[in-house]
Amino acid sequence: MTGHPLIPMIHAIESANKPVVAAIEGSALGGGLELALGCHYRIAHSKARLGLPEVSLGLLPAAGGSQRLPRLIGVPAALNLITTGRHVTAAEALQLGIVDQVTDHNTVDAAVKFALSVAGRSLDPRRISTHPCPQQPDLDALFEEVMQKVRQSARGAIAPIACVQAVRAAATLPYAQGMERERELMATLFTSGQARALQYCFFAERAVGRWRMPSGARWDTSKSRPVHKAAVIGLGTMGRGITVALAQTGLSVIAVETQEKQLMEAKQAISGMLERGAKRRGVAPALDGVIYSQNIQAVADVDLVIEAVFEDIALKTKVFQQLSAVCKPGTLLCTNTSALDVDQLASETPNPELVVGMHFFAPAHVMKLLEVVYGPRSSPQAVATAMQLGKKMGKASVAVGNCRGFVGNRMLKPYIEEAFFLLEEGATPELVDQALEEFGFPMGVFRMSDLSGLDVGWRVRKGDGLVEPGTASGRFARIRQGRRYSPLGDLLCEEGRFGQKTGRGWYQYDKPGSRVARSDPWLHSFLGAYRAQHGLVARRIDHQEVLERCLYALINEGFHILDDGIAAGPEDIDVIYVSGYGWPRHRGGPMFYANMVGLAKVLERLEHYQQLHPEVPHLQPSSLLRRLVASGSPPIHKWGEAIKKLHSQL
Ligand code: ADP
Repeated sequence: MTGHPLIPMIHAIESANKPVVAAIEGSALGGGLELALGCHYRIAHSKARLGLPEVSLGLLPAAGGSQRLPRLIGVPAALNLITTGRHVTAAEALQLGIVDQVTDHNTVDAAVKFALSVAGRSLDPRRISTHPCPQQPDLDALFEEVMQKVRQSARGAIAPIACVQAVRAAATLPYAQGMERERELMATLFTSGQARALQYCFFAERAVGRWRMPSGARWDTSKSRPVHKAAVIGLGTMGRGITVALAQTGLSVIAVETQEKQLMEAKQAISGMLERGAKRRGVAPALDGVIYSQNIQAVADVDLVIEAVFEDIALKTKVFQQLSAVCKPGTLLCTNTSALDVDQLASETPNPELVVGMHFFAPAHVMKLLEVVYGPRSSPQAVATAMQLGKKMGKASVAVGNCRGFVGNRMLKPYIEEAFFLLEEGATPELVDQALEEFGFPMGVFRMSDLSGLDVGWRVRKGDGLVEPGTASGRFARIRQGRRYSPLGDLLCEEGRFGQKTGRGWYQYDKPGSRVARSDPWLHSFLGAYRAQHGLVARRIDHQEVLERCLYALINEGFHILDDGIAAGPEDIDVIYVSGYGWPRHRGGPMFYANMVGLAKVLERLEHYQQLHPEVPHLQPSSLLRRLVASGSPPIHKWGEAIKKLHSQL
């Protein structure tokens, strides 16, 4: 790979004999800022934003940015900007010394005036590449510490590490050699799959905004309704987070909670969250934007309601019927649910076309993901409005069809089940989690389960009639409703081991609520006794098997979802997994990963495991996966076309 095409131009500017002043308006990100760093002075408009975001696309600033920025602002500040890719305001850029002046007026005029004021001064001190980085005590210790931190947070991503190495070259080598290092590091990143994955994520996040429904309704032909005033019903954990997310967009929100005590607590919690959020963003908290009430009649004039009462279809149905009577005609009725049937709820409501699901993730004002769930009767306008609102709240909003678990949780189910099966066959929670965390998940299945609470899944399995008292043994005990079932989670719950909150789960904790998971000998002997009781012989399980069984089972479900039309395309699934389920961004999402591994390989491994475990339906390869492989495994951006063609042949 040859050097970055901007480099000769930047050198020409830097070595010019006349002062060159960069006038920065709008965004100077990446190459734009690198060009400005070649200039002798920089003037920015107060609304401008600057940064070197290459790392977020799996790259590094390779037009001399990694060499000039540390020379200009010092190693620690440059490391921070280059390894995180964060954007800074003009004010912060001035403070850091990236720009020489900030103006509220015409930037070019200000730059011309500035140039005249410095005419005749020596340019030598202004040619950044000709100077060493500012002195830094204990350079080695600093780099060691930063490298350790970056390695930890990168979770396997290579670009942040290359960024540190490039800045290190700036701090320790002459400019020309530093540039050579920058070029080499960039060449490695450029050809890595990670850069492709991260660039795919960047475009996928934009693609999901261009939603389409099986009915033919689409983002560009469906007009959203303006939402000025919204309501939230039920102020548990979810309702509180949703209220905060709405109020932070500047909407006025009516927050309704029937229990007085709960209302008081919610009020305090919401005000606290709004205040902390405002402080972080340097704005005034929108406390007046929220009006609290115990009476559902208070929502009569809102444009949109988000219901977040208990996950109980009868209660939700009742609330929706009340809302239909109270609200003005046309008010959009959204339900925050992770498990209930949005369609059934809609069908019990006088105007089903106004009903959509909004599946938020806890805490709702922090988590990026929002699944907007439409049923066959949801109007395109309702979907457009919910998607628009999601965007306003800063969410990665993805429109999906209605089915059990929607997209995210539906795919999670086989993933978790495989992890349970692996324990039965000889793995430990430690082994499974380590394999998944090395892959790049922030937490493996079992640490995650301890964090969110084992009782959540237990309740769902009880509701599905799967849970039986723990005394049964033998093979039959592990087949329920015709398929392999692992009662391990149920048995732990019967012991009162609900995870972090009880101080015991798949791991042990110093005290209830503590976050540091430690290996638990009790659990290991429990697993041994369980295997003995069920006549299971533990075998050695390696990381590869953990990854293949958990991830390919999840991916396989993703193909079912595409085949069913629940997700419009692989990008929708991938954005859901990257923004809501901790799938490592540098691996692009599950469907991108399958594409990268090769569909034929995924199919072959699923077939292999299915033969070994015929009683596990989710290991049976999806017919779409088979058909895609049969049609020559088209690349991911051609799947949409291929699916259409395959469906038309049915
Ligand atoms: P989460 O799942 O968000 O943690 P919960 O299911 O505990 O929260 O909270 C649901 C909240 O909804 C409770 O505070 C409950 O009092 C409230 N709630 C239940 N029914 C109604 C209703 N008809 N109107 C308003 N609020 C309700």
